[in-house]
Amino acid sequence: MLLKDKVAIITGGAGQNGLGFSTARLMAAQGARIVILDLERAEPAGAAARLGAQHLGLVADVTDKAACEAAAAAVLKQFGRIDILVNNAGVTQPAKLLEITGKDYDRILDVSLRGTLYMSQAVLPAMQAQQSGSIVCISSVSAQRGGGILGGPHYSAAKAGVLGLARAMAREFGPQGIRVNCITPGLISTDINKDILSAEKKAEIAQTIPLGRLGGPDDVGGVCVFLASDLSQYCTGVTLDVNGGMLI
Ligand code: NAD
Repeated sequence: MLLKDKVAIITGGAGQNGLGFSTARLMAAQGARIVILDLERAEPAGAAARLGAQHLGLVADVTDKAACEAAAAAVLKQFGRIDILVNNAGVTQPAKLLEITGKDYDRILDVSLRGTLYMSQAVLPAMQAQQSGSIVCISSVSAQRGGGILGGPHYSAAKAGVLGLARAMAREFGPQGIRVNCITPGLISTDINKDILSAEKKAEIAQTIPLGRLGGPDDVGGVCVFLASDLSQYCTGVTLDVNGGMLI
């Protein structure tokens, strides 16, 4: 098992069809003890059967620094260590640049960027004490191609910010045995886009992707497992594109 007895926190993991829950399920299958943290519900229905006996669900807002610190403290109380953090919580909004209000900007940047900062700050002291840890940050192809399908320019900016923040953390904490890497998913069928794209539009987009289909949550979850595990032990500060070849 790749993650035997590791303790993994996955933010934004309560969506039944989301990248976060897929990651949680695949990590549990590799022996990890799972903590799902999300805004209103800690985990999807029936999660226990798929996450094993040793898992914890926490309700917390990643934009609230005190809530992130309380979540990390609860994980340490229950499991005694934190090995993996997946900064997955995010929200999107399709918008043209001239339409974006200050409120829109704050909401989109706060969840992806401030949330990544606050959750990382909350777990890093434990990882420093252990002299080990792996943080995986979920960015987006929108950061690389300048928006387009799912998110407006503020979403692209938030996700590009995540890439910079992750590299800075990788540089600062590498000497303490802590790795920080990013994934840039392409278009993945989850709840975040179910109301934005029609089936016809998805089929049209699939034809432009070299692998001929949209991604599924497990396509990203599997790469999260790789980056969290020792299989990637000499990788830090890298960004892995999981997009079916969308940028070729
Ligand atoms: P999703 O909507 O299922 O997952 C996002 C989760 O984040 C939700 O469960 C939501 O409740 C949670 N969340 C939102 N605000 C939060 C907050 N303040 N605190 C805690 N949790 C909060 O969608 P998804 O597609 O699984 O998205 C997961 C991540 O992947 C997001 O960061 C998204 O931007 C990114 N992403 C998705 C795609 C895609 O095509 N689906 C592509 C690129 C990147």
